[in-house]
Amino acid sequence: MSTFQAPKGTYDLTPPRSATFLAVREAIAAPLRDSGYGYIETPGFENVELFARGVGESTDIVTKEMYTLTTKGGDQLALRPEGTASVLRAALEANLHKAGNLPVKLWYSGSYYRYERPQAGRYRHFSQVGAEAIGTEDPVLDAELIILADQAYRSLGLRQFRILLNSLGDKECRPVYREALQTFLRDLDLDEETRRRIEINPLRVLDDKRADVQKQLTDAPKLRDYLCDACKAYHEEVRALLTAAGVVYEDDEKLVRGLDYYTRTTFEFVHDGLGSQSAVGGGGRYDGLSEMIGGPELPSVGWALGVDRTVLALEAEGIELDLPYTTSVYAVPLGEEARRVLFGVVTGLRRAGIAADFAFGGRGLKGAMKSANRSGARYALVAGERDLAEGVVQLKDMESGEQSAVPLTEVAAELAKRLG
Ligand code: ATP
Ligand code: MG
Repeated sequence: MSTFQAPKGTYDLTPPRSATFLAVREAIAAPLRDSGYGYIETPGFENVELFARGVGESTDIVTKEMYTLTTKGGDQLALRPEGTASVLRAALEANLHKAGNLPVKLWYSGSYYRYERPQAGRYRHFSQVGAEAIGTEDPVLDAELIILADQAYRSLGLRQFRILLNSLGDKECRPVYREALQTFLRDLDLDEETRRRIEINPLRVLDDKRADVQKQLTDAPKLRDYLCDACKAYHEEVRALLTAAGVVYEDDEKLVRGLDYYTRTTFEFVHDGLGSQSAVGGGGRYDGLSEMIGGPELPSVGWALGVDRTVLALEAEGIELDLPYTTSVYAVPLGEEARRVLFGVVTGLRRAGIAADFAFGGRGLKGAMKSANRSGARYALVAGERDLAEGVVQLKDMESGEQSAVPLTEVAAELAKRLG
């Protein structure tokens, strides 16, 4: 193995592609910030117990995908495989829910770790931006979150995504359905592991990706037929709110998602250009999670969008984000004296808020101008001994090629004017 190789299932973000990742994170975060969500950051690892209880002992995430470790002090930790349990834990620890302002609306952005079989769109380290609205049961809140995710994707120019929507029922109606489903599933031709799953979490069998399993599920009892009146009314309200907002969605009664904590509203964003790793984001209501991790009753709803797959979706749709060049001015000094003077000019420009870079290493004019070109800078500043003797620098417009001498004392003002 080469020393210069990232671990299996991971990759590095390097320029210029890394700029797209930053822009995607920003595009997802912007509508949240504008809607009253506050930023939260939690550790990259938690006590393993939090995820075992919070994500669910029967989920793939906990049984197969979690990176666990024992510290030298004997603590059992896990690299976080998802964000919701940590965010809820942190909100409870900080008593945010007691500040008298429910829902507590939070957004986050970070790295997540799952020991998965690496393939296109599926990595062992990936990145999500997520949102959680804690402590309120209100269909408007469910709708708000779906609308904001839709807005984020649209602001990136994505069009080939679909929203799948379902209701998983609540603690009244879900158990009745669960039993009916178990009775149905026990008669099917399934492998040992899936048979075990029927007993632990039968809803997740509906999520099985294998075609031969899906074929047998055609006549499975539908959760929709078992929803209690309260759940039905709640779901109808969410649907109506989405429709009123002009957000198109598809009812998908098989959508259950891989985490145990979901109740009622459940949704997934899928993109049709991504092959089998088509889910770009997902979420839903998790009214029971707080109690599962030992907290008070706090009905909540949230989502997490995968940054990696969103970038792949952009590439699949051929969308190039309009990312402005980061450097506006590139300074090219010719000689020792010019180096000191121009570096002073660059420092001044930067302090004035003008993005500027510099040809380091005392390179010749030709090589330095190449770098100026590559930087995407709109203007180059070139100065040699004769310019300095006259107290000027040459200001070159990199687009038109036009060049003029500008007095040193006026460079900053002139550039500020030209750059608007
Ligand atoms: P999948 O069904 O593809 O395994 P999931 O249901 O496990 O997805 P979530 O836990 O809902 O995914 O995470 C939300 C989003 O995070 C996903 O829609 C996806 O975009 C992203 N994501 C999840 N796991 C990975 C991974 N291993 N690599 C890259 N992105 C991921
Ligand atoms: Mg998964």
